[in-house]
Amino acid sequence: MCAFDMPLRFLKGVGERRAEQLSRLGVFYVGDLLHFFPRSYEDWSVIVPIQDAPYGQPCCVKGTALAAPTENRIRKGLSLYKFTVSDGISTMKVILFNNKYAAAKVKTGQEYLFFGQVGGDFTHREMSSPLIEPASDGQCIRPIYRQTEGINTRFIENCMAKALELLDKELDDDPLPAKIRQQYELCTRRFAIENIHFPTDSGALAISRKRLVFEELLILQIGLLKLKSRSRSSNSAVIEDDFTSDFLNLLPFKLTAAQSRTMAECIRDMQGERPMNRLVQGDVGSGKTAVAAGVAFSAVKNGFQAALMAPTEILAEQHARSLTALLEPSGVKVGLLTGSMMVAEKRRILEALSAGEINLIIGTHALLSEGVTFNRLGLVITDEQHRFGVSQRATLAAKGLNPHLLVMSATPIPRTLALIFYGDLDISILDELPPGRTPVETYAIGSDKRERAFNYIKKHIAEGRQAYIVCPLVENGEETDLASATEYFDKLAEGSFKGYKLGLLHGRMKPSEKDQIMKAFIHNEISILISTTVIEVGVDVPNAVLMVIENAERFGLAQLHQLRGRVGRGKHRSTCILISDAQNQEAKRRLKVLCSTNDGFRIADEDLKLRGPGDFFGSRQHGLPALKIADLTEDMQLLRLAQDAARQVLQEDPDMKHPDYIALSGEVQKLFENVGEQGLN
Ligand code: ADP
Ligand code: MG
Repeated sequence: MCAFDMPLRFLKGVGERRAEQLSRLGVFYVGDLLHFFPRSYEDWSVIVPIQDAPYGQPCCVKGTALAAPTENRIRKGLSLYKFTVSDGISTMKVILFNNKYAAAKVKTGQEYLFFGQVGGDFTHREMSSPLIEPASDGQCIRPIYRQTEGINTRFIENCMAKALELLDKELDDDPLPAKIRQQYELCTRRFAIENIHFPTDSGALAISRKRLVFEELLILQIGLLKLKSRSRSSNSAVIEDDFTSDFLNLLPFKLTAAQSRTMAECIRDMQGERPMNRLVQGDVGSGKTAVAAGVAFSAVKNGFQAALMAPTEILAEQHARSLTALLEPSGVKVGLLTGSMMVAEKRRILEALSAGEINLIIGTHALLSEGVTFNRLGLVITDEQHRFGVSQRATLAAKGLNPHLLVMSATPIPRTLALIFYGDLDISILDELPPGRTPVETYAIGSDKRERAFNYIKKHIAEGRQAYIVCPLVENGEETDLASATEYFDKLAEGSFKGYKLGLLHGRMKPSEKDQIMKAFIHNEISILISTTVIEVGVDVPNAVLMVIENAERFGLAQLHQLRGRVGRGKHRSTCILISDAQNQEAKRRLKVLCSTNDGFRIADEDLKLRGPGDFFGSRQHGLPALKIADLTEDMQLLRLAQDAARQVLQEDPDMKHPDYIALSGEVQKLFENVGEQGLN
């Protein structure tokens, strides 16, 4: 076995248990370590004189221990070890808490490096709990890795050193051909990997980082371009006739200008030489469903089947209900397929679908499963696309003969980022809300005002309206999430809202239960729906005009905006109340943005400014692979270069078969491993 693919438990000093713990960090094989990059660094290479040491910032001081540490037992279980060091000019007190082990290693008259934050006042300087190394060990920049229970950064550092030794030969296999390295002034892989983990100095670190960021972005960009070129096949579902005007006659309202324009763009795409590949970005409530319905209508009237895929059963059912009502009178047969349907019912739908008796099928991920076959699939629409990966898009597309693809997203992202996420798609923007909407008024309050907010809800319920209350978000996964939602529900049911018609909705419920609750809410048999974020996506109940969100600071801005979009859908004035006791300035600023605007694109921009684009990539909502080292706040410049390079590579050698590109091509494949049956070629 090549050392690269050796499971970590065989690495010296690791073993079963440690390997298990390391796997939580996403490293399984020795080779994975190379790309497990440090989170940050300790710069031990710049030694600061004690008297110049900055307050409150990590730095490195070199000094001689004037005496061995003395132990100071404060109370049972707490001992302080103190000693004084001198750098020849000034002195500094070092304090260790309960660290007998480190204290025992300090010997009088020996010279050490101390890494930590300097505190104290103008009469004396001190450093608490520094890292200590003998000065003879040399001065360097040391990596700090992400840690996990049982695994600290020093342990990973040791593993890394061993891995680099074992993989010495492999380090010369450079996926970037020399030509590209020269053109973009990039160092070799060997230099980059060695110096990203164990930099010889800050210059070498910067050079390594540049190379690795470039490599990562290049691989991503090549992958996206390949996806795009795959769709360059010819259009096998040509829409001959535009049925838009027939569709308009079915609609109970007039399309907004943005809706009409977007629909026209889609129809034009579908009449063209290549299959449509379009992203429709529209703020919550901008009416994406109507656009989808119109586009599907034209496809169906031209003799094709259309599929609409939604991320949750609630949403799929909602779409099925409303589109059946809208389209069936004109002879379009609408079907619903979800994972929780009875086997017999499912079979009936599948048969009708493959026989072509169903024209428009609406469903969840169930549409992706193998048993689903179409008769003449010409159009695939995914709603709220951020829940679907590139791979799922590809899988569904593979079920037809190059069907048209329409992707609808309610997560507004700035154009530059959209080009990266959806490099393979054309973009339409619904930048207009249907008329008559009053913007959702949003307030941020402290929990001391919660009861007042609840009274406000009661007043509106008395007038026949309905409300959502979003439970506190728990960070520890689904189990606790569920427990807390139930607990929260019980508290309200026995407390503030005793005697009211309450419903609870959460992600762990059986779909049939969810459906029941949703139906009851739609028919106003439930006045207040207490819910986790499962209502975030697409739910449309116009009579619900109030929303309270607990622990608002724990949600992302874009997510809060989505949640808030559940109200303000009808003619009544709507209000969203964000409850938060967060004291920190950034959290307050973020909530303020939400209170000051209803414009999703502005909110996305603000979020971008406040938190950086890392979050868009970090959240994985876009279905692209996570970035390991590139940070788009800093690396936009490199991104552009990588985009150029990607284009250049594919222009020169579209299949990347040249020996120079084989390794790079392999990396692209690896990154997009789960992109669907067709792979990238
Ligand atoms: P989203 O873009 O968030 O998916 P929806 O498609 O759910 O928005 O539409 C929100 C609401 O607005 C729905 O109740 C829909 O019927 C209504 N709607 C959509 N377009 C229009 C329009 N042009 N005029 C009036 N109401 C509209
Ligand atoms: Mg929607």
